[in-house]
This record gives sequence, C-alpha cells and structure tokens, in this order.
Amino acid sequence: MRLSNGEVLLHWPLDIHVLTQGWYYNDGSLHQAVDLRTQIDNMYIRPVYAAEDGTVDQTQDWDGHTRTGMQSYGNMVRIRHAPYKGSVLQTRYAHLSSYCVKYGQRVKEGEIIGYSGVTGNVFGAHLHFEVILGGKRTNPLTWLDNDYTLATGREYQFNKGEHSVVVPEADKQTPSTDTTANEAKTVQAILIGPLDAQTAAYFDDAAKTMQLGADRYCALAVDAEGKAVMRCATLSGMDAVKLYQIAQAQGLKEEYFSKFVG
Ligand SMILES: [Zn+2]
Repeated sequence: MRLSNGEVLLHWPLDIHVLTQGWYYNDGSLHQAVDLRTQIDNMYIRPVYAAEDGTVDQTQDWDGHTRTGMQSYGNMVRIRHAPYKGSVLQTRYAHLSSYCVKYGQRVKEGEIIGYSGVTGNVFGAHLHFEVILGGKRTNPLTWLDNDYTLATGREYQFNKGEHSVVVPEADKQTPSTDTTANEAKTVQAILIGPLDAQTAAYFDDAAKTMQLGADRYCALAVDAEGKAVMRCATLSGMDAVKLYQIAQAQGLKEEYFSKFVG
C-alpha cells in the first residue's frame, strides 16, 4: 500500500515471517532477495499473497528438472505495481508448487496468487521473494515492516542507511477501514473438475470433514459433459491449501484442480 508520505509498505507474501536467508546469503554472498520459511512441521504448501495491488506481468512454469537460468526460479509469478518515484516497481515469488493467476491479471494486495513449493533450484522448501525497482533488485526488507524474525534467532543487519518501512502516525491512526485486502485474503473460490464419481465422492467427504458449510461449498454441480464439478467459495487460505493437498494426493493434475479465484 502507499502511505500518506508517498512511501510503499508491502504486504508480507506469507502469513509467517521467518527469514532463512536475507539480502546476503548466510555465507556472505549476494542473494538480492529474501527467503522465507514455509516448511513447518511436515507441511510446506502455504498461501502466497500479492505484496501490493498490481498486474501479473510474468509467469513461468518449471520444466521439472532444469535448475539454471530463469528455470532456477521454478514455478514463478512476477507482479508489476504502481510506479515508485517514476520507476517500475515489481515483486517476484519463486519456487511455487503452483500459481493461480494469469499473465495480465489484476490482483489486489493480500490476494492469494499461488502456493509455496520446492520447484526450481532449491535445497528445501521456501519462498524466494524479490522486490525490483527500475529493473534492479532491492532489499525486500526495506519495503516491509519489522514484523519478522530470523531463523538464526539473531537480529537482521541492514546495510548502512537502510531500514524497515517506518509507518507515519497518520497511517497508524486510521487502521484499515479498507477491508478489501482482508477479504481478498479470505474469500477464495475454487473449481475442481471434471471429476469421476469416485473422486467426487471423496471430495464430498473431505468437505464435510473440513466442515465447509453449504454457504461455502456447493458440491458436485454437473457440467455439460455430465461430469461432476466441485465448487467452493469463501474459503480461508488454509482451507484452500487443504483442498489443494487433497487434490494432489488424489493425483489430480492442475487442469482438473483449476482455479483459485480471488
Ligand atoms: Zn532465494
């Protein structure tokens, strides 16, 4: 979001803000991004949120094996935001298990754009997050608030003159009368299908177990070809993740587990 002083405060792309690598890698070499922890217990698929309103200006599908060049990002989304002081401002989200936006799509700050994963050049699950200003990568932590910890438990050491975004008092005193960001984060619609009867029954059970009420889940609409399509709406990010994992466990390919719509 744009602050009253014209500065930018980006929305954290994950619910949990633990840095595993900063602007410099832990070995001191230049990373020009931050890595955020996604692996907690035995789960690493987490909703990834747009850092600010914008337009998707790049997506990439990982080929499943290449770990060099652009493919090192794996499944990746880049968003172009409003310019900052006349320069193009973009954010990039890499190593996703999947994304649910299209090139050219408008997104709202806090909207789910995809799910974290382990694609591309990774040793383990994490979200790689870049902030690009005028084509140059800049330290994401200078565009975010100080609500984070380091995996090492230490305090983050900024380069000289750099710091977390300082939110002006004027912006603090008017706490979110604008709830669109929160709504975007919790209101998600999913369409799964077409499914055979057995898989459809499986999802029906799963939805009941997850206590998705009729207001959020209209099961098993039948499409033109007579196949079942499951529709969900108003899902929280974590419910969406659960359904995504069920779809993966059922061996459903992306085309069957089609869309998360913000
Ligand atoms: Zn990284």
